[in-house]
Amino acid sequence: MDISAILLFFQSKTVINMAVASFFIKGLFLLVLHKIRRQNYLLILSYGCFAFSLGWALFLLRFMTGINIASLPIANLCILSLPIFITLSIFALARHQPTLRFGLTVSSIFAFTFVFLVMTTHDKHLPGIYTSAINGALYLYTALQIIRKTRPTNAVVWSMYGFCLLLATTLFIRAAILCAGWLSPASPIDAIGPNLTAIVLFGNMLCLDALILCFPLLDFMDTQSRLSQANKEIIERSKIDVLTGAYNRSHMQSRLHHHVSRHNSSDEPFSLILFDLDHFKTINDTYGHVIGDRVLAQAGSQVKSSLRHNDELFRFGGEEFLVILPDTDANQAVDIAERLRRDIADLLFDGPNLAEQFRITSSFGIASMTKAIRSADILLQQADAALYKAKAQGRDRVCV
Ligand code: GH3
Ligand code: MG
Ligand code: MG
Repeated sequence: MDISAILLFFQSKTVINMAVASFFIKGLFLLVLHKIRRQNYLLILSYGCFAFSLGWALFLLRFMTGINIASLPIANLCILSLPIFITLSIFALARHQPTLRFGLTVSSIFAFTFVFLVMTTHDKHLPGIYTSAINGALYLYTALQIIRKTRPTNAVVWSMYGFCLLLATTLFIRAAILCAGWLSPASPIDAIGPNLTAIVLFGNMLCLDALILCFPLLDFMDTQSRLSQANKEIIERSKIDVLTGAYNRSHMQSRLHHHVSRHNSSDEPFSLILFDLDHFKTINDTYGHVIGDRVLAQAGSQVKSSLRHNDELFRFGGEEFLVILPDTDANQAVDIAERLRRDIADLLFDGPNLAEQFRITSSFGIASMTKAIRSADILLQQADAALYKAKAQGRDRVCV
């Protein structure tokens, strides 16, 4: 492998050209993404990318036109502003108020000391040592802010922390190499210094690429988790009957099939209670539909609250409800239905004028799963027949 050709690549202006173009494109990408996603941290980060790209463009200009006392501190300041913008972006990501004061203070201290350094010393190493050390310290600060402000919860945030530490380490190494060259100008380290620092620079660019891409990735992951949460809520809501808070009929169908197939494979007993509020039409006719609705809602929530955790209440239709009782035989189901019947009978409802109060009764039919029953429909028919019997025998009772 021809090492000198590789070193030539790093020594050439290719790396800097790449930085100018790629960070400008990243800035544009983040700007467009911010227009779509309206996340402030993407906007702040895009400013950082534009500043970084401008910084390297000014360096190129300096190479082409010779040393320029004005462009050197400005170019370095622009490059240095990237970790500041990244830190501000992390503040915004963690919903902390971005402190512009921090950015302005660091930038002005750097600009003044840098100009002072360039004007008072003429050593070629010192500006490089100074900028690398400051940059390294800023990435270290950024890494600390990632830990403090975001409290990493996923691999992407941990990677961002890792990239910042890596950037800080390589920048400190670069400062150390330049420092060694500064202390002993005739040593071999001074000769390889430019090549090594250029390679470090290239590694830093790659690390920065990865670090910056983590931000849109976090936005994407956040959107995904919000969407799946919203999906879960929609699915849960689609199972519920809004008036009574019980599950609706379509969910009932799938739960019935689930219990029947579980019974067929494991023989576990389960029972159904089908119940209907008595003379409900008279309630509507006497007190109006609004009161009728209130009665339905109250009866539904009373039954739901007195059932066990595993039992499921469904609105079968109108003023009829179904309860699925897992691991329950017919005798136990009768006891539970008796309790529900008493609970409903004990409820006291307000009429349209508060002085008037009334009670209701309800009728219950029980059916339990046995080997002879082959499907959910047949089990339901048995519960319906038992309910019909309870109505026929005078209502306000439980029948099997
Ligand atoms: P039975 O004791 O034989 O069950 O008599 P019933 O009056 O309760 O039965 P019927 O089937 O004659 O009437 C049921 C009534 O329930 C008629 C219908 O308007 C009313 N109903 C059904 N769903 C709702 C609802 O969501 N809100 C209100 N307010 N009434 C409802
Ligand atoms: Mg009824
Ligand atoms: Mg009915």
